[in-house]
Amino acid sequence: MARLTIIKQDNPLIRKTSKTVDDFSPRLHEILDNMYETLLHANGMGLAAVQVGILYRMAIILTEEYGVIEIINPIIKTAKNQRIDTEGCLSCPGISGRVRRPHFLILEYQDRNGAKQTRTFHNMDAVCCCHEIDHMNGILFIDKLEK
Ligand SMILES: [Zn+2]
Repeated sequence: MARLTIIKQDNPLIRKTSKTVDDFSPRLHEILDNMYETLLHANGMGLAAVQVGILYRMAIILTEEYGVIEIINPIIKTAKNQRIDTEGCLSCPGISGRVRRPHFLILEYQDRNGAKQTRTFHNMDAVCCCHEIDHMNGILFIDKLEK
């Protein structure tokens, strides 16, 4: 495994929309493994591929409920229980702020082998999924701060 460089908010790539993943080959698994090592080293809760300059719709999340989850091509099926919490981002070092997010989320996504999964996420796990899905659309949490 190898550690990747996390790009920051001033890098224009962070604002790009990521593409659908359609190749679930060992090359994808290697990228995901490297993202995992990068996330652990950075002591974060989640990392989207765009944050390491790879414009594909995938992210790794360290969930409370399920442990390490890889979400690829995620689709939000249900989002409710909106609440405001404080969050930060590995691409926005030194910044935190209050964001309104759903705390109950049903997500369809693919795993690293391309198999379709449906899972329910609660509380900060749901917040983290939404934060990472925003990254896939070029959106940062600082765009959504509560006044
Ligand atoms: Zn982030």
